[in-house]
Parts: sequence; C-alpha cells; structure tokens
Amino acid sequence: MKVSFVRARYPSVWEPTNLMYVSAFVKDRYKGNLDVQILDGFFDSDEQILNKISGSDYVGFSGTTPQVPHIKQLSKLVKKEYPSMKTIVGGYGPSLQPFTFLNDPTIDYLVVGEGEQSMLDILNGTATQKLVSNQPIMDVDSIPNPDRDSIDLNRYISIAEKDEGRRVTSIMTERGCAFGCTFCAEGEFGTIWRKADLSNKKLEYERAVRLRQRSAKLVVEEMLEVRDRFNITFFKMNDAETNPSKPHFIRLCKEMIEQEVNVPWGCNMRCDKVDDEMCALAVKAHCEEFWMGLESGSPEIHRDINKGTTVEMIKKAFDVSKKYGIKRRTYALLGTPLESYETIKQTEELIDYVDPEIIGFSILAPYPGTAYWKPEYDELDWSQIDEFSNTTWSSNNLTNQELRREQSRLIEKYSDKLAPIIRKKQKLGIGGSQTLDSMMGAM
Ligand code: SF4
Repeated sequence: MKVSFVRARYPSVWEPTNLMYVSAFVKDRYKGNLDVQILDGFFDSDEQILNKISGSDYVGFSGTTPQVPHIKQLSKLVKKEYPSMKTIVGGYGPSLQPFTFLNDPTIDYLVVGEGEQSMLDILNGTATQKLVSNQPIMDVDSIPNPDRDSIDLNRYISIAEKDEGRRVTSIMTERGCAFGCTFCAEGEFGTIWRKADLSNKKLEYERAVRLRQRSAKLVVEEMLEVRDRFNITFFKMNDAETNPSKPHFIRLCKEMIEQEVNVPWGCNMRCDKVDDEMCALAVKAHCEEFWMGLESGSPEIHRDINKGTTVEMIKKAFDVSKKYGIKRRTYALLGTPLESYETIKQTEELIDYVDPEIIGFSILAPYPGTAYWKPEYDELDWSQIDEFSNTTWSSNNLTNQELRREQSRLIEKYSDKLAPIIRKKQKLGIGGSQTLDSMMGAM
C-alpha cells in the first residue's frame, strides 16, 4: 500500500514532526507492506505534489489554521486528478475547524486530535465514519521516533545551514501543554482529545491529561542517533514549552551530560520556571538559547491572558539566564483586548530592561482554539492571517491599523534584535502563507 503525507504550504523551516510521528507509527503497526513518503508544500509546488503522489492509495494533508485554504485546494486537485485516491486531513487546522471539512466532498476522512492511532484505523479499514478520533497514546515512550527515512530532511537542514551556518533539526521531549493562555491554541489542541463528538454542531471532547513527557533516556538516544546520522550541530526542542516540569527539564539535562551529546540546543521556556539550578545544568548540557515569550509589559494584560506569569517573573528569568550566558530570544504580543498605547509603552520598558538578544513582534491572531475565536471567523481568508501579519484584529482601545503601525514602529526601533522570520517578512512587506514564493526567494 502506498501512502503519501503532505504538509500544506507555509513558510516554516521546521520539519513536519507530526507527520513523521504518524508515519513511524503506522509503519511500525500496520501488518502489510507500506510505502510512505512525506512531502511539504514549502518545497514542492502543487504540480510536483500531484506528480509525486501518483499511485498512492491514501494521501494525508496536515497543517495549522493558515494552511487550511491550501489543504482544501490540494484535496480538490487530488480528487480531480485521482478520483479513487482516498484523502485524509488532520493536524491543528482541520482539528480545530472540523466543520469546514466535514461537508467537503473532496475529503474522505477527517482526523481530529493526535493522528497516530486514527491513521492506523483508516489504513486497517476499521474507521467507520468520516470523523476519526481516538484517545491519544498515553505512553508516549511507546511511539517510535519520527520517521526520518520517508522525508528529505536535508532540505530543512540545508536552509538552516545557509541561514544560520549550523545544521539544525528538532527533537520533541513531550506532548501537550498544561496551561491555557488565552491567545494560544496549544493548550487546546496539544492536550488530550479522548474522543471528539461533533453533535449539536459543536466540537466537544474530553480532556483529562494535559501533558505527557518522554523519558529522558529515549530523548537522548534519539538525539545521539540523529546527531551522528545527519551531522547535526544544533537541536531545536519543539515542545510547546520544555520546562513546565522542572524535574523533566533536569532529567533531560543530566542525561545529555551523561551521554555526552555535546551539541548546542535551544528550547521554549516559561518565565515562571527558570532558576539558577536549571540554567547551570542547561549550560553544562550545551544549551545555548532560551526562547521565552514576554508577551507584554503590562501587569493587567498578564492577568488577562492567563499565562500565569508576571512582569517580575519575566525580569528574573531574563536576568538569571543572562548570568549563565544563555542567549535569550523573546516574543512580544500586541493586541490582546486591553492593549493601549500605554500598555505598549510598558512593553517597551520591559524589553529595554530584559535586553533580549533576539525579539519578534506579533499581533494577536484569533485562531480557533484561542479564547478569541468566533465561528464566523471560519469565513476569513486564513492564508493571509498569521501572528506576524493580519489586517483583521483590533484591541478594545486600538484599531487594527493602529496596532499594525505600532508593530512597524517597534520592528524599526528594535531592528538590530529582530528575529529572522520578522526580518524576512519586513523585507517583503507582506504576510500570510501566500508569501511562500517570495519567502523562498528571500532566503
Ligand atoms: S503560550 Fe506556552 S504555556 Fe501558554 S498555552 Fe501556549 S504553549 Fe502553553
């Protein structure tokens, strides 16, 4: 049986780990012969995708909300070209906007939530309806490592090598997020979807356990294997946050030290859980970068966004990591409901205090799964909206135009610290996933 997975177009140089996990799982559990390939709309044009999937029994599309329009476009093209090929959609976008897919005749299966078991059910012919949803696998150590044989990983690594002068790939140490920040969909999708139910035109699901961690030993074994196979010189941890549990973070660092991984790495960190002990061990384990969202300098906004962090915690996290020589990358989020010129001024004061090495400025995107989503947003052209650029959102006090003007001003003011993606978007002056061709040209 031939199966093709396709990540829809989006200017991201992170490899599609979710599809690589699903691929590894079905290759491990499916009883017959399975020929799997993983393609990416970032590299492959629609025409190339159509050519490469020729002969597939199943094609599975995945993406986040800004990729939903491209997923729909691809499924139409596939059904026109290969009417008997079964189409499957999954990932954050389709899971959080299920009704835009359920009535789409070009889609055969809609996978809601984590996809390993659901994909296996589809291949085994035991999925009996269009919506396929399973309780995610609790023991994440039982899931094989991401399938790095069915994807051309060097395409991703060489972009990083060209851009940053280092061979980068990603490793996941846990799944989910225990928090529920109002602006982030991770706390929604990334948690446990036991069983999805779409009755009453409303997506309902049970959510029992919010975070599952891998054993440090298995994570480090994977790092060693990938390091040697691909000559990796930097690891990105692609966890929502790597430090929600201090013991997990400490175990990882200790194992890396003991197994002598000796490769620099960086990870997302919550500012409320950064201390001397963690920084000291992280540096010993060759951690070089912490990516910490400061979001805003306004105490009121921090209370409003429910992140559980305060301005004081942020200052402390940046101070302590600086003391250990860890490079601090941060993100400021403009446009939560209480945003005003005054709160933006407070954010600037906080940025000046913490003095990050790299910063990015985004405007709130009301993705499904965030507290700001409304059903009518299904109608928006999500290919033109992401956290870096949108022309729709405004706060209680500032219009969208005013927010965008402030974003541009801050990008200009902190231009010497800009995150690479902001620099590229700024250079092009455009946003959304439609920028792919231009982004590729700018790389
Ligand atoms: S911002 Fe971080 S802590 Fe908050 S929900 Fe998203 S991933 Fe979790």
